[in-house]
Order: sequence, then structure tokens, then C-alpha cells
Amino acid sequence: MDRSYISDLKEEKQAMIKGWVYEIRDMAKMKFLLIRDITGIVQCVVKEKEILDKISNLSLESVVEVRGKVKPAKIKAEFVRGDVEIEVKSIEILNPAEDLPIHVNEKTVKSTLPKRLDFRSLDVRKPLVQAIFKIQSTIINAYREYFFNEGFIEIQPPGIIATSTEGGTDLFEVKYFDKKAYLAQSPQLYKQLMAISLEKVFSTGAIWRAEKHDTSRHINEIRQMDVEVGFCDDLKVMKYLEEVVKYIVKRVLEKNKHELNLLGIDLKIPSAKYFTYKEAIELLNKHGFDMKFGDDFEPEAERKLCELNPNAIVFTYEWPIEVKPFYIWPKDREKGISGGFDALYGGLEISSGGQRVHVPEVLIQQLKDKGLNPDDFKWYIDAFRYGAPEHAGWSIGLERISQAILGVDNIREVTLFPRDRKRLTP
Ligand code: ATP
Ligand code: MG
Repeated sequence: MDRSYISDLKEEKQAMIKGWVYEIRDMAKMKFLLIRDITGIVQCVVKEKEILDKISNLSLESVVEVRGKVKPAKIKAEFVRGDVEIEVKSIEILNPAEDLPIHVNEKTVKSTLPKRLDFRSLDVRKPLVQAIFKIQSTIINAYREYFFNEGFIEIQPPGIIATSTEGGTDLFEVKYFDKKAYLAQSPQLYKQLMAISLEKVFSTGAIWRAEKHDTSRHINEIRQMDVEVGFCDDLKVMKYLEEVVKYIVKRVLEKNKHELNLLGIDLKIPSAKYFTYKEAIELLNKHGFDMKFGDDFEPEAERKLCELNPNAIVFTYEWPIEVKPFYIWPKDREKGISGGFDALYGGLEISSGGQRVHVPEVLIQQLKDKGLNPDDFKWYIDAFRYGAPEHAGWSIGLERISQAILGVDNIREVTLFPRDRKRLTP
């Protein structure tokens, strides 16, 4: 008999399922087992003495194979299929579980986040945690789908680099044979080199930042979803960002109705609001902030802008040249504004981007203005000498957008194996 998934079980059929023991309830002359696989949980009723004896020491999370008849039922238990149960004819214990370090079935005890992360493989067995990562899988797939359908090319930038992208000190050093190298803090320079030749490119991948954060929105290894487009400016590339975020939410609504329900999330496709940086600080100042041209947005300011524009992706563009990196196009030097922008969603920055510099002389000037040495970026600057169109792009952090869509407080909840200042295992 082939294995059936729990979600496929049909009334009055003989079935064989495989899964984990989620809960055991002892009655006087029988046992109710809740068995879980990746598709759901089903109640299994054991009445035969011989089987009861065999499972007298059965432990939670043991892996089992259960055979029996699928019967109609009316069950009201969280996460459990309500319409059917299995009348058990046989059970094989395929691999017994030892005492559990954290509870998967959290009816009685809830573990702390650090403890849960220590045992992440057990933690993801919880229906609510599974729901998070099923949704995250839809998010990244929807992003790929969108750009693939728009005729973009998926590129694979390097993870080990020789110079820092932005000249900061926030890089992890790597010993690279007899040289010093770094883990990439962004695919920025490489995706630009592709956009000036392949026009429409995107990538997904890990990047690393050695910043000593200790916040609920920062980790040190991030998955970024990057886009870069040739013959494109800041306004056009923001529109791509708006469209892909809407598409991602649409796909989550279509594919993860069940998970959204479990998590109690009332998700709606967002609208988009566009403010120049100047308009944004004026709006904030009207609401009690005291910001001036050149200030970065503190988390409270980001939250406020989202609060004032509920369920919207809030764009702020034409940021001051001085707060944006050297590769951002100086749109208007007189006014001091650049082609750089940020996008906020759900109270958080989910993305930064901008129109880039495609003129070598401007690049050299901006590197110098930021106190960086153009010699360190020779390979990058030179690439723009051989016919480089204007181009623009952005980067969304996968964990950030997951955080925004799921409305979770701590980014570690939406990161399978977070890397932060304290955590390197598992
Ligand atoms: P922040 O100001 O929020 O620290 P940033 O401006 O330094 O972020 P960018 O360089 O703009 O980050 O990176 C692009 C995107 O990557 C961010 O908008 C965010 O979604 C994500 N991201 C960057 N750094 C982190 C981090 N340390 N942890 C989680 N996500 C990050
Ligand atoms: Mg940013």
C-alpha cells in the first residue's frame, strides 16, 4: 500500500500514513493518537489490545507508520483535520524519539525563542512555525516568478569579494589563500555590471554584514532579492518594486490561505504612496518629529510614516546625496538630492534602491567625496567606460519583507537559522 498524505485521506478507504506522534491521549480502554505529516494532523483511534500493548511506551515525535480505515468524524481540536479519523489496524514504530528538549505540541509549555532556535528542526514541526516558512517560500518564489515573467535574467553574483561595496568597516574578513578578502555585503557592484550589459537582471542570495546590531530587525546574514535594470531611472524602478510587492502579497493570498488563517493574519494587497524625502520629513514634522534635511529616518519615523499610510508601501525618494552611497546618481547637485529611495512596509524599511552612477568621472568624484579610494574600485569604474546606459535597481531583504507580511516583532522568527552577534549554531 502506498503512503497517503494526511490532507488526501478520504472517508471509507483503507490508508497507510507516515508521520510523527504529535499528541497521545489515554482513555480507559483506548488511545487517541494525533499523527502529523507535512500536510496536516489526523486523529488515530487505537482500540485493539495487541496494538495498545505495542505502543504503551510510545513517545511524542516518534516516527510511525499507521494503517487503518478512514472514518467520518467530527473533531474540534486545533490544527487537526475535523472531518475524518483513522481506525487503527496496525502501527509500526519506525524511529522512536528520545525525551524532547522543546515541546512541539505547545499545549502545556511554550519555549523561549533562543531555546526554540537551538532546536530549530523540532521547532519547525509546530504548525504555526511551519506556516511562517511555507509563506516565506511563497514570497521568494513569487519574486522569482514575477521577474522571470517580465523577461529578466537571474544572475549569480559572487559571495567573496576583494573590496567592500560601500567602504564601511562592517564586513566579515575571509582568508583567501595569501590575500585578504571579504564576504559580500551586497551584490550591488556586480549586478550593475550585468545591468549595463544584460539590461534586466535579478538575483536572490545570502549577503553578510558584520554590523554589531542587537535589534529585532537586524541579523548578520541576510537573504536579499536584488533587481537592476538598464535604461531605467529611479521612478521606473520604484514602480517595479511596487508591482512585485503587490504580486508577492497576491500570491501569498492565493497559495497560503490556510497558513494565513492559522496565524490569524488579515492580509490585503497594499497600495503605494510616494513622497519625496522632503515631503516625508515635512509630514513627520507635522506629527511631532523634529527632522531636518540630511537626517536619516529613525525606526520611530519609519513606523509613523507607515501608520499615517495604512496598508501602503511607502516610498520616500530624492534622498539627500550625503546620506546615500557613492554609487547613487546625484540627481540635482544644487539641491543636494540624489536618485536614491527607500521603501517602507508594515512599519519597516523593506528596501533601498536608486538610480546609479553610470559616468566614470562622477563615480570617481563621489568615491572621493565619501573618503574612499577610487583605485580600490578600478575594475568597477572601468566597466562604465565601454558604453554604459543609465540604470537603476533595488534590494529587498527577504526576512524584512517576511516580517512585514507576517507582522512578527522579531526578525529571528522568520529566519530559519539566524546569524547574529551571539548565534552561530545551529
Ligand atoms: P537598515 O537601515 O534598516 O539597517 P540598510 O539601509 O542598512 O538597512 P540596505 O543596505 O539598504 O540596508 O539593504 C537593503 C535591504 O536589505 C534593506 O532594506 C533590508 O530589507 C535588508 N537588510 C539590510 N541589512 C539588514 C540586516 N542587518 N538585517 C536584515 N535585513 C537587512
Ligand atoms: Mg537602506
